[in-house]
Amino acid sequence: MPFFDAGSQFLGLDEPPDYESLTGAACRPISPRSATPMPTPSTGRSRKDWEQLAATLRPEGRAFIGGKLVGSVAGRTFGDISPIDGRVVTEVARCDAADVDAAVKAARAAFDDGLWRRTDPKTRKGVLQRFAELVRNDTDRLALLETLDVGKPIMDSVNVDVPLAADCIAYYAEYADKLYDEVAPTSPHELALIRREPLGVIAAIVPWNYPLIISGWKLAPALLAGNSVVLKPAEQSPLSAIRLGELGSEAGLPPGVLNIVPGFGEEAGKALALHGDVDMVSFTGSTEVGKLMLRYAGESNLKRVAVECGGKSPHVVLKDADIESAAAGIAWGIFYNQGETCHAGSRVIVHASVKDALLEAITRVTATITLGHPLDPATRMGALIDNGHMTRVLGYIDSGVSQGARIVLGGRRAYEELGGYYVEATVLDGVRADMHVAREEIFGPVLTVMTFLEEPEAVRLANDSIFGLAGAVWTNDMNAAHRISASLRAGTVWINTFDRSSPATPFGGFKQSGFGRDRSHHAIDKYSDLKTIWTAYR
Ligand code: NAD
Repeated sequence: MPFFDAGSQFLGLDEPPDYESLTGAACRPISPRSATPMPTPSTGRSRKDWEQLAATLRPEGRAFIGGKLVGSVAGRTFGDISPIDGRVVTEVARCDAADVDAAVKAARAAFDDGLWRRTDPKTRKGVLQRFAELVRNDTDRLALLETLDVGKPIMDSVNVDVPLAADCIAYYAEYADKLYDEVAPTSPHELALIRREPLGVIAAIVPWNYPLIISGWKLAPALLAGNSVVLKPAEQSPLSAIRLGELGSEAGLPPGVLNIVPGFGEEAGKALALHGDVDMVSFTGSTEVGKLMLRYAGESNLKRVAVECGGKSPHVVLKDADIESAAAGIAWGIFYNQGETCHAGSRVIVHASVKDALLEAITRVTATITLGHPLDPATRMGALIDNGHMTRVLGYIDSGVSQGARIVLGGRRAYEELGGYYVEATVLDGVRADMHVAREEIFGPVLTVMTFLEEPEAVRLANDSIFGLAGAVWTNDMNAAHRISASLRAGTVWINTFDRSSPATPFGGFKQSGFGRDRSHHAIDKYSDLKTIWTAYR
């Protein structure tokens, strides 16, 4: 079935997105030092253009197993609902244990066959480079799939999600012919080789907030290392993952090397994590489900587990900070992607003497972050993922107010008439460390504000969380900046910026934000095993 109706005039990009300026930003378009928002990107299309393109889109909903698109064994499907308006985008294969088993068998057969893992490095590099290129060339449809599924602004899908997924695949492609193994020091007449070998079948289980980017973080290093992958996208956002399966195959991945099993967590996800022939599960999602992954591994075959989980990242703002830069970094840091970002800077801990100035500046920046229809190029904040999540986010706002917080901005549902799930950018002041809004991951556009007087108190408040994914320090005093960043228990600390990253920097958490790292050469180790080959010679 064609992806678009024949005759669509929108099959190509009129103006390619400015990849260069965005390659360093994981999720948010801010400049490196000042955290100033970049100008709204434009591909020259109007909302009407995108809506017409969406109307002609024919998304593929079947699973991708053994190099083929297939329906579920039981013939069951589920309606893939768009948070933009609550309508069903398409029916998607509802994979369960039988489909997962077929995918794992295909992955195992491909691994045993060795067609991929034993391919010479130059060929493997070429296939991954072509995969990255095909992703880039497919920007329009991938971006639309992402926006229809997740409700994020189309401009972000075009300029951030698609290019960053392609960049990640291209980054790991380069390792194929540049990675060396090791020779250990031994006595004379002996040679000990330490070889990196693929683990086998990797189960990648991913969330709905950045489906393309996080899938890329997992499948690119796993494939580079020579593994086979079974990717389970979140039930809310399966469409771009299915398309990735098709593109990987078109790029030259042998059948069975990359399989996609859409379905529900309790069905497809659980069956995959419990499967006895899966060698590793690489999970990104909530801390609650991350803990289940450890249980499933223990109850089954002691497969390896890497878990990237939730966050509640603090911004520590000292009294000498550049308030304008801090406000831009803080506002974009919580409202980008509607606050549905694992490392969103959701807790401001500001010196009491500059709180009012900071709140005033955050209010000004937030006024430029337009909440609206995700297919409108001017929109910078779209819809939340579903009705249940929107209700939960609104419930947190109510809980904050009932526990004594004051709403400075927002606080309400918006655009109810669209039938989707929109919540205003919300700032809560007067928050105390014991409130639910300060302790739990809201995963929506809600910023909490607390004050401090002395530096140790700021550090204590920042670390007073079960999470430890990221944090930021805003100050012109570099001694204080490094003192505080060394004291923060978090996988990433930004100083005078927020959310700068690249495929070359590891990403992951401390504490209950999980363990294992995505991105960088460290991720390759996660998908590899070490084998010693000891030889005696004369
Ligand atoms: P989730 O934990 O509900 O689901 C994540 C994935 O796990 C989905 O594919 C889901 O279908 C699957 N799943 C759910 N229950 C399962 C089960 N019992 N067995 C097996 N699989 C199961 O998370 P979500 O709501 O999709 O995503 C939001 C969460 O993800 C937030 O907590 C966020 O912080 C976190 N997240 C973390 C990172 C990171 O890198 N640390 C990145 C993005 C999102």
